[in-house]
Amino acid sequence: MKIEWGVIEEKWRRRWDDAGTFKTDPDNQRKKFYVTVAYPYPNSPQHIGHGRTYTLADVHARYKRMRGYNVLFPMAFHYTGTPILAMSDRIESKDEELIGIFRNVYKVPEEKIKEFVEPLKIAQYFHHEIRNGMKEMGFSIDWRREFTTIDPQYSKFIEWQFQKLKNRGYITQGSHPVGWCPRDGNPVGQHDTLGDVEPEIGEYTLVKFELDGFQVPTATLRPETIFGVTNLWINPNENYVKATVNGEQWIVSRQSISKFKHLGLKIDILKEETGSSLVGKEVKNPLTGIKIVILPASFVEPGNGTGVVMSVPSHAPYDFQAINDLVSLGDEAVPGFDLDSLKPITIISSKKYHDIPAKEIIERFGITSQTDKKLESATQELYSYEFNDGRMMSNTGGYSGLGVREARDRVKADLLETGKASTLHELMNRPVVCRCGTECVVKVLQNQWFINYGDEGWKEKAREALSQVNLLPKEIRPEFDHTVGWLKGKACARKTGMGTKLPWDHEWIIESLSDSVIYMAYYTISGLIKQKAITPEQMSPEIFDFIFLGIGDPKEISMRSAMQIDLVHEMRNQFLYFYPLDSRHSGRDLVPNHLTFFIFNHTAIFPETNWPRQIVVNGSVLMEGKKMSKSYGNIIPLRDAVAKYGADPLRLSMMATAEILQDADFSMELVRTFTERLGKLYQLAKKIGENKEDADHSLTELSILERWLLSKLQRTIQIVTNAMESLRVREAIHQTVYITDQEIQWYQRRSQSPNPIRMKVLREVLEVRSKLLAPIAPFSAEEIWETLGKGDPLATSQWPESDPAKIDTRAEESEELVVSVLEDIQSIIKVTKVKPKRIFLYVASDWKWKAMLEMLELDPETEVKTGDLIKSVISEVGRTKAKEVSNYILKMVGERSKLPKDLAAKRQSLGRLDELEVLRNASGFYNDEFRAVVEVFSEDDNTAYDPKAKSKFSKPYRPGIFLE
Ligand SMILES: [Zn+2]
Repeated sequence: MKIEWGVIEEKWRRRWDDAGTFKTDPDNQRKKFYVTVAYPYPNSPQHIGHGRTYTLADVHARYKRMRGYNVLFPMAFHYTGTPILAMSDRIESKDEELIGIFRNVYKVPEEKIKEFVEPLKIAQYFHHEIRNGMKEMGFSIDWRREFTTIDPQYSKFIEWQFQKLKNRGYITQGSHPVGWCPRDGNPVGQHDTLGDVEPEIGEYTLVKFELDGFQVPTATLRPETIFGVTNLWINPNENYVKATVNGEQWIVSRQSISKFKHLGLKIDILKEETGSSLVGKEVKNPLTGIKIVILPASFVEPGNGTGVVMSVPSHAPYDFQAINDLVSLGDEAVPGFDLDSLKPITIISSKKYHDIPAKEIIERFGITSQTDKKLESATQELYSYEFNDGRMMSNTGGYSGLGVREARDRVKADLLETGKASTLHELMNRPVVCRCGTECVVKVLQNQWFINYGDEGWKEKAREALSQVNLLPKEIRPEFDHTVGWLKGKACARKTGMGTKLPWDHEWIIESLSDSVIYMAYYTISGLIKQKAITPEQMSPEIFDFIFLGIGDPKEISMRSAMQIDLVHEMRNQFLYFYPLDSRHSGRDLVPNHLTFFIFNHTAIFPETNWPRQIVVNGSVLMEGKKMSKSYGNIIPLRDAVAKYGADPLRLSMMATAEILQDADFSMELVRTFTERLGKLYQLAKKIGENKEDADHSLTELSILERWLLSKLQRTIQIVTNAMESLRVREAIHQTVYITDQEIQWYQRRSQSPNPIRMKVLREVLEVRSKLLAPIAPFSAEEIWETLGKGDPLATSQWPESDPAKIDTRAEESEELVVSVLEDIQSIIKVTKVKPKRIFLYVASDWKWKAMLEMLELDPETEVKTGDLIKSVISEVGRTKAKEVSNYILKMVGERSKLPKDLAAKRQSLGRLDELEVLRNASGFYNDEFRAVVEVFSEDDNTAYDPKAKSKFSKPYRPGIFLE
């Protein structure tokens, strides 16, 4: 029978909707739990990668709801910013690549694509797509609170936020280097770049060598190595220029000129030069005065720095290798120059390296040419080692004896002070490409508005707030600490794009990473704003002051804003009830920006009692082991996947392969196995649901087997509950889906005849199981629940609790014994290849039990006094067995450490297990399994059939076995 999951999903979506299951308002009885996930940016449909973050948030919300919390899980849409603008530009210019993606990957209808020349149409289209997808995935969202970030009421809220930041001194204006798209004329952040990379801006020292009245600037991150420079490098195949730059005469690559323009330098090009024409010329080292030569090297990139590089062969593997390469070309490489005169100058000493550090590391890495990719890692390793452990040698003048870390700062400061160097801001992770296809540069913006995350007092507050946040998983904390440490001014406004204008300077529009940091507060009132049709004019700063900060007289405010006083109080109450935010979900890529800004801004605006309580960070999703990307063509829109495979198998697959911070490896194969498992579960539920006669049967007369299954069920509840508390959803799935499946299969294998007790027990297991599955696979869980004849929807029913009265360690150990004996017999058959007609089992003698239990009673941390133990046992069994007893006990004590502590404790508290009875009860089962006659004896039974004396090998929990 094919199960119509589509129909089932549709049915439950309607039920939840009709019943208003996920509409949440303050109530007096229940504690609240408020969970949010970053609102999506509607410039594309959501795909499997997004699905993981949002599904995890929904699993969390559904779990907490079943734990009795009044859960609020809202959603909104982030229209702000320039990426949508860039897209509509690309549509306007008939960009075939983008149109192809819309048409073939996102399946946007042709007439819609035509409308996309208008940015708002793009946002609205994908807004609807994403919302429908979220509904189809079963996200338990209170949709009454939905808004977009260009709603005028929301803009009022953002104006309020910014005015507050400004009043508190956190907004500054000035010039500052930012990542910049020259085509759009806008600063770029992570959201604006292809591949979502955050532009990282680093500061180089530009050391100026002299050449016939010109300066030849070279960009370096290691100014202290200027004492070890033996030559400069230029690329002979590239173009260079002589130019006046801010009044100085420079020689730099042609390509670097536009970069200097963006940095605000005044440029006047005097003359074009080829790289090769500069080869062989001599320049003067500005610090040492020594003359050095310009040499050719192909590794020099004209777009990096100035296109001229200082060469420090002793400490820079690239330089050392490039000189080697030149030497190997012979005397003709640089006509008129004696390459042998180039001797590396070592200026840093360290423990690990001796003569010429770069040479040593190149040999260790097995590098043979300057195009070898390994040079990069060799460079990284040597740089960071010398930075931390290196010391300046005696040939470095006044810096001699300093650690590299300190020398670097001092050399730089001295060069800058004497005008022998300047600084250069450069993108460290170039090329960074804007979504419009243009390579980004660094621009020094004048009069730019910043949120000053560099403010030390503010950083302190952010650190305090972070220390109070429960971070899941804990390992993510250093990434937050690191971000708080390096954050400086963040450009917070742009000249174009959708969004809110700066309240005090209407030329500027607040950008998307700045208008999305405290909106979780806005959800608490957004429903009322819509429902009561409150106008933007009514949303004055004083209304927000009262709702969010309790400042002002509500009566006056209500009169001035023409809003009923009850409504003013109701909004305040919603905020007070739901805030602070209990859990914020997001992907790991948002730690260095959004999530940290979120912390900063909460401390700036709200009192400590309303700072966030928890942040949950998850890893990304790989598609069949590969990174997901449009260029790989392996992006699967969520709605397509739901339509094809159903929501629950997708949800399970996204959660099942990785714990929270790891990358999840999604595969269609996995989706199919979940579909199959859910199908089987549903079939079983149908069988049980149709069988009504068990319903009134009481569960008093249970066999060991039934007691075992119910006991295991209680353990499962404990394990899953613990896992869900720290959102280890993978572990929860493993237990609920795989382990429980194995247990049910074992149970069915052991007890085949249908009877009311059996059905009743299976019914109970299935009921609990559907509850445990409900947060993760809500549609199937509801359907199974209903099939079992249950009334109220699972979504709002109580999470199961483990019942201590049903935990039965004796039943558990008995059944474990049955399993292990089964496996032992199987392995004997495998080894001996005997097909037995008769199987004999011998359970351990009384005295062996006594010996074991006496040992288990001892403190597991102390050593066993073997002699005492032997004496004690011999005193009961008599001296005739002395040798056998002492041999046995010596061996048993020797193996003591192999027994897991919790199992030892369990067996100790259990005492003697009647193995004879357990195995005799199971003999019919073994009989069926092996089609052989099974007999069970005690080792103490002298009349037992034991031709090969196998009974002697028996131990407690490990009977002797003889097959014939
Ligand atoms: Zn651009």
